Amino acid sequence: MSTGMKNLVRTLDSVDFLKMDRRTFMKAVGILGASTILGTYKSEIVSALEFAETKIIWLHGSECTGCSESVLNAGNPDIVQALQKLNVNLAFHETLCAQQGIWNDGKLVNTSELNSEILLEELYKEGKYILVVEGSIPNGPDGSGRYLVIGNKTFKETLGEAAKNAVAIVAVGACACWGGITNAASDVAKDTDYRGVAYSKADVTKGMLKELGIDKPVINIPGCPAHPDWILLTVGAVILGKIKVPDDLPAVLDEYGRPKVFFPPDHTVHENCPRRGYYDRGELDTEVGGPGCLWKLGCKAPYAHADCGIRRWNGSVSMCTQAGGPCIACVEPGFPDTSMPLYVEREDVGIAGTNIDTVAKVAVGAAAVVAGVHAVRRMKE
Ligand code: SF4
Ligand code: SF4
Repeated sequence: MSTGMKNLVRTLDSVDFLKMDRRTFMKAVGILGASTILGTYKSEIVSALEFAETKIIWLHGSECTGCSESVLNAGNPDIVQALQKLNVNLAFHETLCAQQGIWNDGKLVNTSELNSEILLEELYKEGKYILVVEGSIPNGPDGSGRYLVIGNKTFKETLGEAAKNAVAIVAVGACACWGGITNAASDVAKDTDYRGVAYSKADVTKGMLKELGIDKPVINIPGCPAHPDWILLTVGAVILGKIKVPDDLPAVLDEYGRPKVFFPPDHTVHENCPRRGYYDRGELDTEVGGPGCLWKLGCKAPYAHADCGIRRWNGSVSMCTQAGGPCIACVEPGFPDTSMPLYVEREDVGIAGTNIDTVAKVAVGAAAVVAGVHAVRRMKE
């Protein structure tokens, strides 16, 4: 940890968590991570329980449930501890609901406590909930949304109803942010027409809320899946009022609605990759399983704006490149199309916008940091 960071941690130790200004809070979130924030400041957060309980409605569209799986894998605190400390009532989460009601021959079998459709409608009416959306929303066929129907209602309609009374909307994972895997180029993509909540690929004019005529800001937590810290800390910051929606969003989000603290515009995964020394020495692996830099195996980390290299995954144990897999830039708008072909070197772009072999043979150091940013800009052009 750098001296600056150590000083910040020391400063944070003497700060009343609830009085911490938002800027310092977001810095702390970025540096300390979920376990420290929700662990070190446990007593202060517990006193936050005097605040009203916060309800979360977590909807699932077209997806693999990998982001729910990811948040369930949060280690310290785990999801239950986090929800308790933040006084959250996870009022609806389809895969975690113990039981859900069914209709039989047009008649309700269960009471509202057990019937998910009625429960949802009751929650919409009560309002004052944070809406978390996981998964994309099909608009097809022909704008009907009928490629995803749950309880005789299209998911498109469900999203519209849920979004109207939400105090904040958080899109979790690449699918909810931009359409993700479901929105990848294919022969049927035009017909299925999967959308993200606020975007379709990198196009903000084609998000599903816009299609529904709903003008509300959306916080995007991309990734395939999203990191549990990114989800818990963003939702936690909203609950504790450290991010006020919508007033603070222009300052804390980047141009694609991602919290800058986790997806820094001027920082890429490449900069803190554990294999970075190999890159700097030009030791580029050409076969999987070696210790070297994975650029020639298609690593897209120089284009991925995320803190994976610092935060790491699975309880900070490892991350994609550390485990031997090239980064596929799963946090970028338009993923996966923007990262295809996944495991092929991007020779036309290179890391510095020039031939990788030339770059790797010089002492890059800080120059490559700048170079990575330039490369990203070039990709977007
Ligand atoms: S190109 Fe990929 S594997 Fe190589 S140093 Fe950068 S992030 Fe690590
Ligand atoms: S290292 Fe790359 S592929 Fe892996 S989670 Fe981070 S951004 Fe996604």
